[in-house]
Amino acid sequence: MSETPLLRVEGLAKRYGALKAVDGVSFDLWPGEVLAVVGESGSGKSTLLGCVAGLAESDAGSISYDSRHDGIVDLRALSEARRRWLLRTEWGYVHQNPRDGLRLGITAGGNIGERLMAVGARHYGRIREEAQEWLERVEIEAPRIDHLPRTFSGGMQQRLQIARNLVSRPRLIFMDEPTGGLDVSVQARLLDLMRTLVTELQLSVIIVTHDLAVARLLSHRMMVMQRGRVVEAGLTDQILDDPQHSYSQLLVASILQG
Ligand code: ADP
Ligand code: MG
Repeated sequence: MSETPLLRVEGLAKRYGALKAVDGVSFDLWPGEVLAVVGESGSGKSTLLGCVAGLAESDAGSISYDSRHDGIVDLRALSEARRRWLLRTEWGYVHQNPRDGLRLGITAGGNIGERLMAVGARHYGRIREEAQEWLERVEIEAPRIDHLPRTFSGGMQQRLQIARNLVSRPRLIFMDEPTGGLDVSVQARLLDLMRTLVTELQLSVIIVTHDLAVARLLSHRMMVMQRGRVVEAGLTDQILDDPQHSYSQLLVASILQG
């Protein structure tokens, strides 16, 4: 077990005008851990994720990341180019809407191969082979490799986005409501697949969701957000069995009814 967290976030803050979208959030993420960020719509989950992943600028706080290449780096002080490089190589970011995370104008195989090329792969045959393997892994039929993702169903697009993110062997994956836009039956299949991949690849994950069932199935630890602040954090099972904060109690009660 490593002695330093993969990611340490301290006092992170982000305002939109007078609104404190993220208000002093701190947490550690350890290697191989899945952290769920839950809370109702508008509580600041996506803003937090975007700030941590460097897609949005934060106003205060610190984010340190134990990089494979450079050791511990201060993400808020990192150059834009370096942050983007991290996003392409050591990290993955799965958007709620697959259209934000895929290139719709290139084939499924191209979407996966592009990531391999970003980490240095050059051999066309091997890139195609690996793309094929990943399509199989995310349950997309082989002939689809030459099809454009815009001809795919929502669930398939989301599985392709996951393959595109995982093919380069990242160690940290950010996911923003990955099952959010999908039908319930499609969600179940995707969740199942995500759980298998996370376990097999021992991924470290921060997953944002408003769905406590998703958090329960995938995460070890959970943070409950309300109005930009973390109101409760701990082991997922513990919070779901015995929530301490009145807002977490409300959230948990609402899924027990649902
Ligand atoms: P969640 O992901 O939990 O639904 P968000 O992080 O998207 O919440 O939003 C948190 C708050 O910040 C909300 O009140 C939202 O309206 C506001 N917000 C988010 N993005 C922007 C933006 N680009 N400009 C202004 N306000 C924003
Ligand atoms: Mg959101």
